[in-house]
Amino acid sequence: MISTRLTALKKEIPEHVTLVAVSKTKPVEDLMEAYAAGQRHFGENKVQEMVDKATQLPADIHWHFIGHLQTNKVKYIAPFVHLIHGVDSLKLLQEINRQAAKNKRILSVLLQFHIAQEDTKYGLSWTECTELLESDQIKSLQNIRIDGVMGMASFTEDTEQVRTEFGQLKDYFDRLKSTYFSKEHSFTICSMGMSGDYLYAIEKGSTLVRIGSSIFGSR
Ligand SMILES: *Cc1c(COP(=O)(O)O)cnc(C)c1O
Repeated sequence: MISTRLTALKKEIPEHVTLVAVSKTKPVEDLMEAYAAGQRHFGENKVQEMVDKATQLPADIHWHFIGHLQTNKVKYIAPFVHLIHGVDSLKLLQEINRQAAKNKRILSVLLQFHIAQEDTKYGLSWTECTELLESDQIKSLQNIRIDGVMGMASFTEDTEQVRTEFGQLKDYFDRLKSTYFSKEHSFTICSMGMSGDYLYAIEKGSTLVRIGSSIFGSR
């Protein structure tokens, strides 16, 4: 079942777009089934759950933390996490940097933008982001690497609205790349698109989709 859904999904996703299988709340057996079908990128939004699963599953899995990360929990995922998607404050960047250094790692992060109409979601505005990138403090963070941006569109039937929001995020990504990261070959990730809207996200230039229920079933 899971492998069938994965195969079908991969046909719709271009080669250059990374598929992160969002496995939150799902048992390790389900992740193993996806793993056996060749899936290597998995996304989780709870620290404890991700740690538990990582200890039980093969070491070549790339773990993506896609939830809101509390500073006091960074230390638990720092040894093994592949990419932290939802970074939206200097305080969090500083703690990720500290824990990365302790683990002798460079940790990759994405800056989360607030693009949806709902005000319940986390994320930076354009102004907050440029202030963050121009701050003196950020220049001293040697153990983090900002690899791109992440965002979530409004949960709505209005597909034009969703397209507009994804287009906005892609525009932020392009502007950041040319203004602040033109020499950084690693600034390549525009993480947008979930089960309900990934085709619109890809149409607007997504390079990474985070898909849960279309692979593992509803939660
Ligand atoms: C749960 C979640 C997803 C996946 O959602 P689906 O609708 O199940 O595909 C993607 N991104 C984030 C940040 C999530 O929390």
